[in-house]
Amino acid sequence: MDISLVILSAGNSTRFKSVTKKQWIRVKNDPLWKFVADRLNNFYNFKETIITANKNETKLYKLLSDYKIVEGGTSRQESLKKALENINTKYVLVTDVARACVTKKMIKKFIKEAKNFDCVVPYLPVVDTVIYKNHTIDRNEVKLIQTPQLSKTKILKKALKTNQQFTDDSSAIKNIGGKIGYVLGDEKAKKITFKGDEKLKCLKPASKLIFTGNGYDIHQFTQNKKMVLCGVEIESNFGFLAHSDGDVAIHSIIDALLGAAGYGDIGEFFPDNDPSFKNADSKKLLKYVVNLLETTGYEIVNIDVTIIAQTPKLSPYKKEMKKSIQNLTKCKNINIKATTNEKLDSIGEKKAIAVISNANIKFKEEK
Ligand code: ZN
Repeated sequence: MDISLVILSAGNSTRFKSVTKKQWIRVKNDPLWKFVADRLNNFYNFKETIITANKNETKLYKLLSDYKIVEGGTSRQESLKKALENINTKYVLVTDVARACVTKKMIKKFIKEAKNFDCVVPYLPVVDTVIYKNHTIDRNEVKLIQTPQLSKTKILKKALKTNQQFTDDSSAIKNIGGKIGYVLGDEKAKKITFKGDEKLKCLKPASKLIFTGNGYDIHQFTQNKKMVLCGVEIESNFGFLAHSDGDVAIHSIIDALLGAAGYGDIGEFFPDNDPSFKNADSKKLLKYVVNLLETTGYEIVNIDVTIIAQTPKLSPYKKEMKKSIQNLTKCKNINIKATTNEKLDSIGEKKAIAVISNANIKFKEEK
């Protein structure tokens, strides 16, 4: 049977009260979205797997996996619609990234029933008494609907051609008169919603590996510009020739952090031909990267910075620079070194300053 898989992972994770977004909780070394995609692909040979991602994160998803990544919309339904544009198989299995521990048995059940319905849906019966608007109702008539749901692609596409918002696919298909097949779901397919929920059985804890990255940058001097290093203004007759404020130290730190996370380099995030970064305050760029690391599950262990400058004399600024980077990265373990180039080459000839940085990061432990 030709089935495509859609994993909805573009949500904002607002109910999950943790700095780390839930789709970025780490299972060993993998973010949750990748774990879920790999797990489901182990259960069934899907024709194609499409993952919807938050606009700011599509780049990372593409760097970290070979799955087809589609930029999500502002709602679950919008994201699903965008994903479906890429699908031509007869059937589509749609799931939410938060349903991390869906079982193989569930998938098998769906496939068995697929031909008989327009949408096959897992549900859980209700064992507790149910009161609806002050009236006790027959709990046997109540179903708790789960995902994944297996739908006929054409029918699901048709069902979503509306501005009406549905919280799942079966509701949309039912709305246009489609035939819904209810199969018994599984407690294990519980959704990760609140902090603490991530301690589900199928999820292994994050690995304790330390990741190292290095960064290098050099900028030449130019007159009539302030010199800024590590976010600290340095008294000097010149600043740095650059598209941004030219804070060569912060640029190298950013590259070290991105390198450690496997997130590419500074030019991919803040292109120097992009007018929005003209004269940009590099402190803001570093804050953006620190936030990106935090929301995707990392914490910084330490950063070591070596500034290579023949002039100006930097030792009086080292303490202030350290404080500045501590504040920007929320990491205490910052070390700033300043050295000369023994009067050799462009740096020695007082034409430029270069900076080499190293950063270590690790996965944040959820408490
Ligand atoms: Zn630079």
